[in-house]
Amino acid sequence: MMHQVIVIGAGVVGISTALELQRLGHSVRVFDRKGIAAETSAGNAGAFAFTEVEPLATPGILRKAPKWLLDPLGPLSIPPAYALQIAPWMFRFWRASRPDRYRRLLGAQVSLMELSKAAVNRQIDLVDGESMMQRDGQMQLYESEAEFRASLPTWELRRQHGIEFELLESPKAIAEKQPGLSPRFTHAGFTPDWMNTIDPKSWVEHLAQAFRDLGGQIEQRDVRSLAQTPDGVRVELAVGAEHADKVVVCAGAWSHHLARTLGDHIPLETERGYNTTLPQGAFDLRMHLTFPRHGFVATRINGGVRVGGAVELGGLKLPPNFKRAETLLDKAQQFLPGLKTEGGTQWMGYRPSMPDSIPVIGPAPSAQNVVYAFGHGHLGLTQSAGTAEMVAAMINGLAPPIPVEVFSATRF
Ligand SMILES: Cc1cc2nc3c(=O)[nH]c(=O)nc-3n(C[C@H](O)[C@H](O)[C@H](O)COP(=O)(O)OP(=O)(O)OC[C@H]3O[C@@H](n4cnc5c(N)ncnc54)[C@H](O)[C@@H]3O)c2cc1C
Repeated sequence: MMHQVIVIGAGVVGISTALELQRLGHSVRVFDRKGIAAETSAGNAGAFAFTEVEPLATPGILRKAPKWLLDPLGPLSIPPAYALQIAPWMFRFWRASRPDRYRRLLGAQVSLMELSKAAVNRQIDLVDGESMMQRDGQMQLYESEAEFRASLPTWELRRQHGIEFELLESPKAIAEKQPGLSPRFTHAGFTPDWMNTIDPKSWVEHLAQAFRDLGGQIEQRDVRSLAQTPDGVRVELAVGAEHADKVVVCAGAWSHHLARTLGDHIPLETERGYNTTLPQGAFDLRMHLTFPRHGFVATRINGGVRVGGAVELGGLKLPPNFKRAETLLDKAQQFLPGLKTEGGTQWMGYRPSMPDSIPVIGPAPSAQNVVYAFGHGHLGLTQSAGTAEMVAAMINGLAPPIPVEVFSATRF
């Protein structure tokens, strides 16, 4: 049965979902208060990071956190003004890192990654998008034998899940793959099966064009609340109201505000991240580089270099602290001594993050015609096409391609 569907949010998750539903014959409108890829999906690192299957809440992680928090511009920070508000989320994060929960979440992450990898290739074929991809792999860099050894359990985990990689144990072996790195990097792990888009914003715009070509509509609308009706869902807007058979909430880091209007309390928070994008010619970057100890990456965007990462648990209202972007750029210059740091553009984005590192994908507990698809944290681009296929199965009343209970909004 075909439905009139409203998708809220024109980020990569919303547009991917809308495209899949329209392709399957539904009549789909996307509402976004700002426009296409106007928030987090615009400025991310562009990586389809299929190799990153381990949830962030690993057993023992909270023992490392105090060390990171000591440096206010370090990889993890909590602005004092937000410390109290984030405490319940941190408590849930800690609970998710307990070994039994961790194993369940790892299984969920692995299955969503496998689905997403296949799904994005189907999506690329559908929209003729191969020219917007860079399939050059990724290198994670370590500064000592000890740091490398400490990473080996994670590499073993990847091996167990069939992820290909090559471990490099000298600066010379590293330089063969990526010349120009500081010799402080003594060890590395290279994952060939990793893909980046040339620009995440252009990628969403490309998907949006394919959606429109199939007859879909994208409208600038500010959604204020949702209400279940006997035959669907009433969508209350800043100006007026609309009705649909089904609504999908893909509003990124703002999704819990809409869920609350239905009576659902979802512990969604934001991990704010920063970056600087340098123009073409900044550095001859051959692949996506990850500096795990420092919590940031360097990646090729539109022929230039984007340097970014960091996690700031600072909510949706505090002003950005662009010193973070500057700190990352300073470090990048030490790590890539030839990097030209002039002419960069700074950006801050709001990762939509659940405390157990996996998204919410499933029906709203209090409204049977509303489906939630948000909370992808660090992996929203990576998991967008897989999420779209799961939501489409739910709307069609079919069995989703992977088990969905673990992603349910009722799990908290
Ligand atoms: C520094 C950084 C680097 C990252 N790198 C990567 C990476 O390399 N790979 C990866 O997979 N992920 C990465 N991420 C994460 C990724 O960017 C996010 O997970 C993803 O963009 C989330 O997409 P989304 O569609 O859920 O949300 P968004 O892109 O934020 O879209 C949500 C949309 O909903 C709209 N909206 C919200 N509320 C309303 C309302 N009430 N009415 C109407 N519209 C509304 C907003 O305007 C917005 O356009 C990174 C994030 C950051 C910050």
